[in-house]
Amino acid sequence: MKSLLNLPFVSPNEPLSKHTTIKAGGPARIWAEPQNEAELAEFLQLNAQIGAPLFVLGAGSNIVPSDDGFEGAILHLGKGFDFARVENEILVVGGAAYLPKLTKFALENRLGHFEWACGVPGSVGGSVWGNAGARGWNGHDFESRDCAADFVGGVAFDRSGNRVELGKNDVQFAYRRSSLGELILVEARFQMEILTAEEAEARKKIVRGLLERRRATQPANAASAGCIWKNPPNCKGAGAIIEELGLKNKTLGGAKVSEIHGNFVINAGGASAGEIRELVAQIEAEVKARTGIELEREARFLE
Ligand SMILES: Cc1cc2nc3c(=O)[nH]c(=O)nc-3n(C[C@H](O)[C@H](O)[C@H](O)COP(=O)(O)OP(=O)(O)OC[C@H]3O[C@@H](n4cnc5c(N)ncnc54)[C@H](O)[C@@H]3O)c2cc1C
Repeated sequence: MKSLLNLPFVSPNEPLSKHTTIKAGGPARIWAEPQNEAELAEFLQLNAQIGAPLFVLGAGSNIVPSDDGFEGAILHLGKGFDFARVENEILVVGGAAYLPKLTKFALENRLGHFEWACGVPGSVGGSVWGNAGARGWNGHDFESRDCAADFVGGVAFDRSGNRVELGKNDVQFAYRRSSLGELILVEARFQMEILTAEEAEARKKIVRGLLERRRATQPANAASAGCIWKNPPNCKGAGAIIEELGLKNKTLGGAKVSEIHGNFVINAGGASAGEIRELVAQIEAEVKARTGIELEREARFLE
């Protein structure tokens, strides 16, 4: 049987610390970086025959890997999937396109709605999968906006390599989740708002404000996996709970709960994935013991 490693875009033993924003984690046994749909389909068909475990990694900004790495294939969409174009009021983007760049691209094309994404360091694929969202401009106010608000369709592949066209109603969204499941998103379409030149300039100013606010309230320059936990329903945010319990700054080896925001566990320098995971587990146990609240993870912990 043809081996995955015979494919020109596949390589062995790629360190996940190089591909995750928390900068930790051991090697992926197989690293596949297809550049186009034909290569992606070929890889998926072969992988399905072999039956190797498969994980799709976007920009790695919501992932906590393990020091053992991943005993299977990591699929990372290559540069060929990093594109953006405008079709009337629709922004058509590749699964590997980077959200902060899209905010800029949209406003340069006088398109609004993507302001919220300016500080979210994810790819389109990972962000639609997890319905990423943040504070943004909703037309009259700063309010949360997310991928679900403007998603009107896209293109995905199933794990056997079949191409699937997605309409708006083929994907359901809820807070930080979507129904994409095992599907691999390679293209998304978003309904945008056409702006005048003056409006686009005003939105750029809003974006600068959003980025400033983010820098003041989040450890934007530290290595992290973003928010580790979802905010519990009908309750204060996970970060506020952790802060009230005095757990900010708690450290374990090179891992530390951010002093700026309690929902961020940062790699303060040389942390192993094991230290990060252990610190996360300790926080969860302490929050449960002292408040009864069971924190649910937003970041994916890769086994
Ligand atoms: C400093 C910082 C700030 C952040 N701020 C925010 C914020 O304000 N709001 C917010 O929502 N998030 C935030 N995040 C978290 C993170 O950026 C988002 O969750 C982002 O959408 C993840 O995208 P990604 O490409 O990095 O996905 P990854 O972390 O690589 O993967 C996340 C999930 O998506 C899946 N996936 C990846 N690519 C695809 C694909 N092409 N098709 C199908 N599934 C795929 C993966 O299998 C995994 O399950 C922040 C993170 C950091 C480090």
